[in-house]
Amino acid sequence: MSQYWSPAVRELTPYVPGEQPRERVIKLNTNENPYPPAPGVSEALRNYATDHLRLYPDPTSHALRTTLAESYGISVAETFVGNGSDEVLAFAFQAFFCHDTPLDVPSITYSFYPVYANLYGVTLRKHPLNAQWEVDLNALANASERSGVIFANPNAPTGHAHSLEAIESLLKRVTNRVVLVDEAYVDFGAESAVTLVGRYPNLLVTGTFSKSRSLAGLRLGYAIGSPELIDGLQRVKDSFNSYPVDSLASLVGIEALKDKTHFNACRNNVITTRERTRQRLEQLGFDVLPSKANFVFAQHPDFEGAQLFVGLRERGILVRHFNTDMLNNFLRITIGTDDEMDSLIEALEAICR
Ligand code: PMP
Repeated sequence: MSQYWSPAVRELTPYVPGEQPRERVIKLNTNENPYPPAPGVSEALRNYATDHLRLYPDPTSHALRTTLAESYGISVAETFVGNGSDEVLAFAFQAFFCHDTPLDVPSITYSFYPVYANLYGVTLRKHPLNAQWEVDLNALANASERSGVIFANPNAPTGHAHSLEAIESLLKRVTNRVVLVDEAYVDFGAESAVTLVGRYPNLLVTGTFSKSRSLAGLRLGYAIGSPELIDGLQRVKDSFNSYPVDSLASLVGIEALKDKTHFNACRNNVITTRERTRQRLEQLGFDVLPSKANFVFAQHPDFEGAQLFVGLRERGILVRHFNTDMLNNFLRITIGTDDEMDSLIEALEAICR
């Protein structure tokens, strides 16, 4: 605490991401992709310094947004890019949710939403998950007087995803406020709501290059929505920084989007490994929530989450443990390579013996 901080900053509780290990470990705690980005990325990187580094990036990110638009079959005016979807989410909070009325949000979801709500003075109305640990879309839709709705699909850290049909029925009921669907994990088996954007001008979908495109180190995320919503984001962004993303991120993002073969191979590997991991965890007695993401959320009836977390850490394996009443017993385990998951299972066998 410093005397120089404003009262608002004194009140802040920042988001704390999973730890960055200093020594070599198997890192299954922050949902990164175990596979490298598309091969075209290395080629683009080799030429980058000579061709681009001395110049400012394109303030409209036109080339990247065009490639994004082409890959989703939408118009450039429906796209927005930013430094990771965390930044895009921050802009959305400022553009759409800064009102006196509450923002409807699931009680268990991505922990950055409360951080932004706190930072931008947005009140959250939290809706408990249902008995199957699923986001209760009905409760979100039923609430009255709000500044908007936000949820992740698949949800984090649970991994459950709702169908497109379920999301559309929420959109039919919430028509006068922004509905933000955070699709950070959508490529690992869920249906994207991007196909609904043309019909629902209040729908904003956010996505990231950090997970299915293996580019978490770059900070590149996007939003897709009606030109009206994109303009709102643009106004906030232009008041913050004239350049949406740097030229390196644009170049690399384009290469990653172009290579559909690599993208599909990597995500299919992750999905296959996820299902194999789920089975093996279940054989060890874990309850594993069904997941459409690149992680599983699991608890063991006989062992505390903290105990398993520490046991794994001692064996050089990092997973995520949330120290809250509701989630205390669970571990969120990122899907790594098959070898990494074999090591995880061996370590758990030893701990649970
Ligand atoms: N949304 C959710 C649900 C996430 O779990 C994450 C990753 N921590 C993000 C958004 C942010 O991803 P990034 O900023 O890397 O694009």
